[in-house]
Amino acid sequence: MDQTLELASFRGNDEPCLVEAALACRMCLSSDVEWSLAVEDFEGQVECACRSCGYVRLVSLTSEQTLRLSLQPSHA
Ligand SMILES: [Zn+2]
Repeated sequence: MDQTLELASFRGNDEPCLVEAALACRMCLSSDVEWSLAVEDFEGQVECACRSCGYVRLVSLTSEQTLRLSLQPSHA
């Protein structure tokens, strides 16, 4: 694994729409992104797969962001 991780830009108390915006696709800017959370000891990562263009990326999260995302309903 030799990729630079992107840091998520939302804060732990941000509104759901801001969290979604932070996870929106970097390629086509679609917010129709399917994400899956991977929690590690203190921090986490979220894999974001765009439903529009198929672009997949990993975003690293602070513990606060990990907690926030674990409370955010994924729009299935
Ligand atoms: Zn996309």
